[in-house]
Amino acid sequence: MIDTGQEAKHLVVDRSACAGHGLCYSASPDLLDSDEQGNPVILRDPLTPDDIGAADAAVIVCPERALTVQS
Ligand code: SF4
Repeated sequence: MIDTGQEAKHLVVDRSACAGHGLCYSASPDLLDSDEQGNPVILRDPLTPDDIGAADAAVIVCPERALTVQS
């Protein structure tokens, strides 16, 4: 494994806060999908450097503050 000096980042869903209305996977469909109940499914973990913008967009658009990017 190559040490890039950067910590892996993860998009994390707080299931207890998520209302399942889908703004996140509409905003960032390359990074988030939905399950049959409308709950978000994160497609890559850890995030790649190219995912950071999409992850930040999903965090910003969530009105329930159910998404966070964590190291
Ligand atoms: S936008 Fe937030 S509350 Fe809505 S489905 Fe996504 S994580 Fe859940």
